Amino acid sequence: MQMQNQVNTLEKLEQYISVTPEEREAIQSTKTKWGTTPYFASLMDYNDPNCPIRKQVIPSKLEEQNEFGLENYLVYKENRDTKEDRPDTIARQYHNRIAFTVLKTCANYCRHCFRKELVVDKSLELDFNINEGLEWIKEHKEIRDVLITGGDPLLLSDDKLEYLIRSIRDIEHVEMIRIGSRLPIVLPHRITDDLLKVLGGFYKIPIWLNTQCNHPREITEKTAEAVFKLMSAGINVGNQAVLLKGINDDAKSFKELHEKLLTIRVRPYYVFYTEPAPGIDHFRTHIERGAELIRNTLRGHTTGLAQPMYVVATNIGKIPLMPDYYIKHKSEKEYVLQNHRGQTTTLPNIPE
Ligand SMILES: *Cc1c(COP(=O)(O)O)cnc(C)c1O
Ligand code: SF4
Repeated sequence: MQMQNQVNTLEKLEQYISVTPEEREAIQSTKTKWGTTPYFASLMDYNDPNCPIRKQVIPSKLEEQNEFGLENYLVYKENRDTKEDRPDTIARQYHNRIAFTVLKTCANYCRHCFRKELVVDKSLELDFNINEGLEWIKEHKEIRDVLITGGDPLLLSDDKLEYLIRSIRDIEHVEMIRIGSRLPIVLPHRITDDLLKVLGGFYKIPIWLNTQCNHPREITEKTAEAVFKLMSAGINVGNQAVLLKGINDDAKSFKELHEKLLTIRVRPYYVFYTEPAPGIDHFRTHIERGAELIRNTLRGHTTGLAQPMYVVATNIGKIPLMPDYYIKHKSEKEYVLQNHRGQTTTLPNIPE
C-alpha cells in the first residue's frame, strides 16, 4: 500500500506540507525521479522548508548546478570500466568482498544519493541479471562477504529475496551476507513476519543489515519496532549516515542522531562524506567536517558504542578520516595524549 501510494506528485505532497514556491518550481521542472512513502512524508514538518526530511526528499533547483561533481561518477567510482570482466550487478573495490547491485528502485529517492545517475537521474543504464551475478560470485572463491545493495534490495518480493539469499548461502566460500537498505527508516512496514522468515532463521552465514538514517527526526516507534523484529530474527542492524550540509552537520543533530540510534538498538557504523556525484554540491561540507563533529560531539562526550567511523568513499575504497587530536606530542621517552576536554596525560614510549 505504502509503495502504491508513493508521494511523488505535487498534489500528493500538498497533503503533508505547505509547499513553498521554490519547492513547487523545482518539482515542476525536475526530470529526475523523486518521491517517498506516505509514512516518511508524514514525518515532514508542515511549515518549515528547512525540515531535514523535506530537504532529503523534495527536489531543489540547486541540483541543476554542478561545479564539483564528476561526470559519469558511478562508473568511475565502482571501477566499472576496468579490465576485469564483471556483470553489471557486481561492483568491486576490494579483493574479498563485493557490492551486489540487484535493482535500481527505491522507496525514497534521496536527493543526495551517490548512485543518483542510476537511481534518480536515470542517465546510467545497467542490466541487473541476478543469476549472472550469482555465477560470478561462485566462480570467485576469494569473495567471503557479499553486500546486497541497489536501489533498495528489500523492495524485491519475498520470493525473489528468498531465492537470492538462499542462493548466496549455498555458495561455499561466502561467509557472511550484508544488506544495505533504507527501508527500516523510510518504510518500516516492510519488515513483515514473512520477510523475517526469508532473512532469519539461519544460524550460519549471518546477515548484517545497514540502514541509512541521517537525522534523529527519522527515528520513530515504528523504526524501533522494525529494528527489534529484525534483531529478534538474528539480523544485526547498523547505520550508515551521510554527512549533509544543513541537515545533520550541526553539533546538536549529529550528536542526537548517534545517541538516538542506540536507543533503538542500531549501532552506528559509518558516516559518509557526500561523494562527488553530479548535482549534489549543495549537500557537501568541507572534508574535515565529519571528523570535527566526531571530535566535538561524540568521542568522549558520549558512549563508545555511539561512535561511527567517518569515511570518504572513493574509487579505491573507503578511506577513514578520524580526528587526530589525541597525540599531542611524542618523544623518545613518552607520548602526551589529549582527551575530549583538552586535558593531557602521558604514557611511556616503549622501545620496539
Ligand atoms: C562499501 C563497499 C563495500 C563494503 O565496504 P566495508 O567497508 O566492508 O563496509 C564493498 N564493496 C564496494 C564496492 C563498496 O562500495
Ligand atoms: S535509498 Fe540509497 S540508493 Fe536509494 S536513493 Fe536513497 S541513497 Fe540512493
